[in-house]
Amino acid sequence: MNIVVCLKQVPGTTEVKIDPQTNSLIRQGIENIINPFDTYALEEGVRLTEKHGGKVTVLSMGPPQAEAALREAISLGADEAVLLSDRAFAVADTWATANTLSIAIQRLGEYDLIICGRQTIDGDTGQVGPEMAEMLNIPFVAYVSKIEEIKDKYLRASRMVEEGHEVLETTLPAVITVAKEINVPRLPSLRGIMKSKSAAVTTWTNKELKIDPATVGLAGSSTQVIKVFFPQRVSSGEILTGDAAAQVDKLIDKLKSANLI
Ligand SMILES: Cc1cc2nc3c(=O)[nH]c(=O)nc-3n(C[C@H](O)[C@H](O)[C@H](O)COP(=O)(O)OP(=O)(O)OC[C@H]3O[C@@H](n4cnc5c(N)ncnc54)[C@H](O)[C@@H]3O)c2cc1C
Repeated sequence: MNIVVCLKQVPGTTEVKIDPQTNSLIRQGIENIINPFDTYALEEGVRLTEKHGGKVTVLSMGPPQAEAALREAISLGADEAVLLSDRAFAVADTWATANTLSIAIQRLGEYDLIICGRQTIDGDTGQVGPEMAEMLNIPFVAYVSKIEEIKDKYLRASRMVEEGHEVLETTLPAVITVAKEINVPRLPSLRGIMKSKSAAVTTWTNKELKIDPATVGLAGSSTQVIKVFFPQRVSSGEILTGDAAAQVDKLIDKLKSANLI
């Protein structure tokens, strides 16, 4: 079973600073981590290959320092790692990200399952997984919390929905995004850490991928961040006291004095 796990390196803090000129993250001095949801995707991929054989390839698009995230993934059981890194790929929106990742996946060769995290903790859109499925023209299942059966070209998965769980069957290859309920990620083993230090991490630039430059990075992004800002702190509200009738009277007075009614 050939499994591709898409993994993004993200800032390990919510205290990020934004460059006001470019509206992009200022990454200097920030510790980077594997996007937490992607650790569940990786763990699931590794568990599946431990049970059914095959290999897990971790794939990341990002700056050169994202190699560290891929090495960490090897220490956690990934077999192969590919970094997509090129200035041309920078400042991609989700469409351009999914486009680059899916073209790279096709270049990797035959695959059975692509596993993504449900979302990142920086971009937070949850769009890259479904966009890749659309681009690769294969089925997609979101918020998977359990893989119930997987064999040959068949997958049965339980996914989380607001009211409970839904069990879906699909053909393979497919893309799934996983919820953190799916497993408990392992810690790296000493053997894994040793392996990750010497393992080869393949880097592909656009020289290898040969993607139309108009469809990658900023040039390929049909959306643009106009402004990024932290919400203003608002003063805490007021809790109206008294019985229900008194509270309604006070509320009406306040709305009238604010000229809202
Ligand atoms: C309009 C717009 C403009 C943006 N502009 C900038 C910018 O100027 N600078 C900037 O730094 N960022 C920018 N971003 C953020 C950047 O586009 C996203 O980080 C990126 O496209 C991935 O989207 P996401 O983080 O929301 O991933 P999600 O869709 O939430 O991720 C879901 C899953 O997809 C996979 N995945 C996502 N990204 C990658 C990746 N790079 N490699 C491998 N797997 C991945 C992971 O498995 C992840 O769990 C922008 C985003 C938007 C929406």
